[in-house]
Amino acid sequence: MDTPGNAQERYTRQLKIPQWGEAAQQKLQAAHITVVGTGGLGSPVLYYLAAAGAGKLRLIDGDKVDISNLNRQILFAEEDIGKYKAQRAAEKIGALNSDIELEFIAETLTAENIEALIPATDVIVDCLDNFSTRFVLNKHAVSRAIPLVHAGIHSFSGQLTTILPGRTPCLECLFAGMKDPTLESGARIPSPVLGAVVGVIGSLQALEAIKIAGQVGNAYAQRLLIYDGLSGNFNEIEVVRDVNCPVCAAL
Ligand SMILES: [Zn+2]
Repeated sequence: MDTPGNAQERYTRQLKIPQWGEAAQQKLQAAHITVVGTGGLGSPVLYYLAAAGAGKLRLIDGDKVDISNLNRQILFAEEDIGKYKAQRAAEKIGALNSDIELEFIAETLTAENIEALIPATDVIVDCLDNFSTRFVLNKHAVSRAIPLVHAGIHSFSGQLTTILPGRTPCLECLFAGMKDPTLESGARIPSPVLGAVVGVIGSLQALEAIKIAGQVGNAYAQRLLIYDGLSGNFNEIEVVRDVNCPVCAAL
C-alpha cells in the first residue's frame, strides 16, 4: 500500500527537533529492532516505534489474546480475543505505518529456538513478563553484543535499564537467582498490573530503543530506574557489573 502524502511528511514534527533531525531519522529507518513480547509493555513500545518510523521490526510472542489482557494491552480489542498477539500486533502497527518492514513470529521464545528467532538485530526490547525467559534473552543479547532494553512491571511499580553488553551490568548481574512465582502445578502466577503503569514504562522503553537506533542521547545504562506509580516518584539506583557474572564477566 502506498503511503498517503510525502513519506517523510509524517515525521515533520520530530525532524524539527535539533537533537534528532534527518540523520537520526535515517538511522532509525535503517535499524532492525526486535520486540520480544507484544503484550502490556509491547503495546506502547510497538506503537511508538512504528509511529516514529523504526524501519524494520520483528515481533515475537507465542500467546493468544485473552480478555484479561485488555486492561493494559492496548494493541488489542475484544475482536482480537483468541487470535495470536504477534500477528494482530503486526497488523495494527502496519495500519499505523505501512512503510515499516514487519515480521511477526507467533512462537514462545526458548533457549532452543532463540538462535533461529533472533539471528541478527540492532536492538532488542524486553517486553516479557517472566524472568526465566528474560535470562535466556539476556544471555543471547550479551553473546551477540546486542543492546537490550529491559523493563518490568508489578502492580503500581515499574523498572527499566538498558544493557550495553561488555560496558554495563547485564540482567544476570542484576537479578541472578530471581525466580518467577509459580503454582504447585508449575504454572506461572500472573502478576497484578495496572495498565497506565505499563504505559509509562513502555513509553520509556520505546524512547530508549529510538535513541539507540538513532544514535542520539545517552542510554539509560548502569542505572536502574524504579518507578512508584502510587507516589509518582522516579528513583534511580546506580548498578555495577558482577565481576563473576557467568554471562558477561568474560567480556
Ligand atoms: Zn552480567
